Amino acid sequence: MSAPGTTIFEHMSGLARELGAINLGQGFPELPEPPELIAAAQRALGERSNQYPPMRGIPELRAAVAGYYARTQGLTLSAEQVIVTSGGTEALAATVFALVAPGDEVVLVQPLYDAYLPLVQWAGGTAKVISLTSPEWTLPIETLKAAIGPKTRGIVLNTPNNPVGTMLSRETLEAIGEVAEAHDLWVLCDEVWEAMVFDGTPHVSPLAIPSLARRSVKVGSAGKIFSMTGWKVGWAVAAPALAAKIAARHQFLTFTTPPALQWAAAEGLALPDTWFAAQRARYTALKARLVSGLEAAGFIVLPASGTWFITLDLAASGLPADDVLLSERLVREAKVASIPVSAFYAERPEKGFLRLCFTKDEAVLDEAVARLAAFRAALA
Ligand code: PMP
Repeated sequence: MSAPGTTIFEHMSGLARELGAINLGQGFPELPEPPELIAAAQRALGERSNQYPPMRGIPELRAAVAGYYARTQGLTLSAEQVIVTSGGTEALAATVFALVAPGDEVVLVQPLYDAYLPLVQWAGGTAKVISLTSPEWTLPIETLKAAIGPKTRGIVLNTPNNPVGTMLSRETLEAIGEVAEAHDLWVLCDEVWEAMVFDGTPHVSPLAIPSLARRSVKVGSAGKIFSMTGWKVGWAVAAPALAAKIAARHQFLTFTTPPALQWAAAEGLALPDTWFAAQRARYTALKARLVSGLEAAGFIVLPASGTWFITLDLAASGLPADDVLLSERLVREAKVASIPVSAFYAERPEKGFLRLCFTKDEAVLDEAVARLAAFRAALA
């Protein structure tokens, strides 16, 4: 995994700029932004206080988060359980710093989002890293059990998973719940992609599993829900005692989050279901366009439920199966930037998969497909 400061994302985006390549590496939409949210933020900037809001977040946003999860995931939460943070990233950091003491072991599951490992290490913890089983990316419960030792205190999960887009089923979470109960573990579940699910698979949070509800922290992100990644408004949701510990860390990480964006996120979460359905339909169509274009050109795309990404299976697609070398060739020769999935591994990397982002306009996706198809045809 790249050292902090020189991530693969910066490397690829830098190359894309330098070479004039289409950037399907970076994980953000290049599409019109939701006018309802922009207008709400503008109104809040002009009409509401721009001074420090309450440390745990404005009550209206905390209530809106609880209401949104009641509506979309059937969770019964009180606003007291919600701590508003500066992005999902800060919620992850505040939670890790609240729960990990020096010497603790934490199970991480790869492919993993790049913040987890450094956060655990900065807290003085040690990571025990297990892997999802490719290419279905299922979580092997026996491997999880085997990774738990006397110093293990918690598990970090991510559903839907960035980079591979698969989700943890209720059955898997229940099995994890048994393990967590048996060893008295906490579970930190990164659910920032929960609203970006395009195949109808129900999103299940550990907070919905009786054995996990009391011991789990759910992390969400308005930046992902509203497709404005720069907003950096997120939250941690947990049982009141856990939430209080997280708030104590948040207090000295950022203390608070810009109030206008909190007001806008609160308004956004109360938008009608039709708004969310329309957003999902737009992304579903873009994803289908990229997948069908690639499949028509002979690429094999792995099934995925959510996130803004699709995964190419390189060997099955008849491509050289070293994702790092291939992504370097693709950006230079085909002028399409991608992200090697092995960048999401801390150890024992899987080298056979490439991540592509589909939240770009149709013409950009079509041109990327044409370039990738020409590259693949030239190899044959
Ligand atoms: N977790 C995962 C799995 C992510 O993909 C991201 C953003 N790419 C984050 C957390 C960070 O979310 P935020 O921008 O709200 O800090």
